[in-house]
Amino acid sequence: MDLFEYQGKQYFARYGIPVSPGGVADTADEAVAEADRAGYPVVVKAQVQVGGRGKAGGIKLAGDAAEVRRHAEAILGMDIKGHVVRRLWIEHASDIAREYYASFTLDRSAKLHLGMVSSRGGVDIEQVAAEEPDAIARHHIDPVEGLTAEAAASLVGRAGLDKEAREGAIELLVKLYRCFVEGDAELVEVNPMILTPDGRVHALDAKVTLDESAAFRHPEWAELTNFQDLDDRERLAREKGLNYIGLSGTVGIIANGAGLAMSTLDVVNQVGGSAANFLDVGGGANADVMANALEVINTDDNVRSILVNIFGGITRVDEVAKGIVEALGRVKLRAPIAMRLDGTNVAEGRALLADHQSDRLISLPTMLEAARKAVELAGGAGGTR
Ligand code: GDP
Ligand code: MN
Repeated sequence: MDLFEYQGKQYFARYGIPVSPGGVADTADEAVAEADRAGYPVVVKAQVQVGGRGKAGGIKLAGDAAEVRRHAEAILGMDIKGHVVRRLWIEHASDIAREYYASFTLDRSAKLHLGMVSSRGGVDIEQVAAEEPDAIARHHIDPVEGLTAEAAASLVGRAGLDKEAREGAIELLVKLYRCFVEGDAELVEVNPMILTPDGRVHALDAKVTLDESAAFRHPEWAELTNFQDLDDRERLAREKGLNYIGLSGTVGIIANGAGLAMSTLDVVNQVGGSAANFLDVGGGANADVMANALEVINTDDNVRSILVNIFGGITRVDEVAKGIVEALGRVKLRAPIAMRLDGTNVAEGRALLADHQSDRLISLPTMLEAARKAVELAGGAGGTR
């Protein structure tokens, strides 16, 4: 799970990593109130989960309330690489002497944590890595030993950070590593980590990805997910515990297993249609899960047909069929269903559905035929919003 910058900074702050004081704002009025609180000058920062906000015009300095209002109005609603800005972070502006880069992540091939530090901060680090790989100092960390102050000092030294910044950078790195490990993150990145003219080192930006497998020991993460900018369909799917991703086509998809769900999307594309979503009901999907899946798809205004593609292994086709029948009773489906059911207990499943077959519920023997039918029901090829 990726955090927004402001959430990342709040996370950092818990581990004593220095960040600038600030607050979130969803309107220009709130932005001015937060700026008054943080003290001028301030930075008005678009909260979207994509890098390069500065270059896109999503980060602006403001010297007074009028300027904050002007920037806030311009940035709210702005589209940054397909992400619409709905929230701002307003913080007291920092004076910058130098911009550096620091991160910790997991190096899967080395099976070790990897720390990276560079004196080329504030710019696209991928570009630095490609053009000047030596400008990034790397250090693999033994997870049992942790990051020692000596190792942090070596990183900072090899990265060539300015002398005035070294002590502060070492301190920040040790805290950042604790945040990474104890905070169960997959990535913590500070770009830029700055040196101020008066010799302090702090985090001017924050990118944090949390390891969702560790969510069970972080009840406090529940509130983080509420802030994610999911659309209504995705929010309902999350409430129902479904593995769903909203797309922009017209054929609603339900399949079991991520692989089959992806193949189903491909086949729909192949026969000239477009998927409205990805939805994997998982192995062992029961009637309730199926009914929930249909309910979520039913909230999507763009859906013109529904393609159910189930291959029963652990999943039993009769359970799936029960779910479809249950959903037919629970919600008035907005679109007809084309389905391909096969595998475990397929005969029982088909028998259960026999009474319900109509031009709104059509069973086909193969995935390809069912996909063709679904696309035809959706109004043929080329239907997107
Ligand atoms: P990104 O473009 O999405 O990575 O957003 P950042 O938060 O990293 O900000 C981009 C750039 O804006 C930074 O590299 C800085 O040069 C500038 N910037 C951000 N905050 C401040 C600030 O408090 N003071 C000054 N002077 N510049 C800032
Ligand atoms: Mn940045």
